[in-house]
Amino acid sequence: MIVGVLALQGAFIEHQKMLEQLGVETFQIRNKSHLDKPMDGIVLPGGESTTMYRVLRDQNMVEPLKKIINDGLPTFGTCAGLLLLAKEVDNYKSEYLQTMDIEAKKNAYGRQLGSFKTVGEFNGQKDTPFVFIRAPYIVETKNDNVEVLAIVDDKIVAARQNNQFVTAFHSELTDDLTVHKFFVDMLK
Ligand code: GLN
Repeated sequence: MIVGVLALQGAFIEHQKMLEQLGVETFQIRNKSHLDKPMDGIVLPGGESTTMYRVLRDQNMVEPLKKIINDGLPTFGTCAGLLLLAKEVDNYKSEYLQTMDIEAKKNAYGRQLGSFKTVGEFNGQKDTPFVFIRAPYIVETKNDNVEVLAIVDDKIVAARQNNQFVTAFHSELTDDLTVHKFFVDMLK
């Protein structure tokens, strides 16, 4: 099993480490030609969505990336990655990849609560650690086939729609493999 991790900006090495602990090979996607490599899944990491999107656009990676996601490649978007995939971002007028039927809110916790750690239930798994860093959350799901996987303080913070899986939090910054295992199961 091999997963490409978008490595333009942000916390990509941490995802590679988590996946490698689960026996999954990884490689870094740094330009358009890397999107042509054979892969069983792709990770869009946390970082800054506007910056990441700008680099994707400048390197002509937007359309090929949208295509492989729309064609069904298992995709894991973390934090900024969630924003890149969301069909709508309610407080930010920019169009990212827009492949997933969710409406998200950017920097949704405001300045005071910008970053925090907590534990919660992920896909029925209690006490899963969550790390939020200037995180978004999902305001609304826009299709019945979007499955909600985690809720913190009444906000949706993880969801899946077919091949697309997103978390508002960073599990790659914890030592708990629960969330990455969920993604690895999607690869099979
Ligand atoms: N606030 C960032 C954004 O708007 C996301 C933060 C993160 O990925 N940790 O893209």
